Amino acid sequence: MLLLEESAMKHIPLRSCIICRQKFPKDKLLAITRISSGEILVGQHISGRSVYLCSALCAQRLTQRKDNLLHRLLNTSVDSLAIQREVENYFSSLIPTE
Ligand SMILES: [Zn+2]
Repeated sequence: MLLLEESAMKHIPLRSCIICRQKFPKDKLLAITRISSGEILVGQHISGRSVYLCSALCAQRLTQRKDNLLHRLLNTSVDSLAIQREVENYFSSLIPTE
């Protein structure tokens, strides 16, 4: 089980996707982070309060929710549509165009 040993050696922390709740290595997830100034940054590994999304599908499910999940989790009133647009841009850039 070489793969398992390698990931254990690197000590990559696991984080849960806020939508599907599955755990993944942190570097495989998209981070949405509220930094100390209150700004929300998407897809950057910086310190602050972060939540994580695993896939374009989960990003889509987030946009369909009506409960302002991002606002509650990040304790922010930043326009969630703007955040969602950045999240969508991020995932669409990963998907090969047809
Ligand atoms: Zn997910």
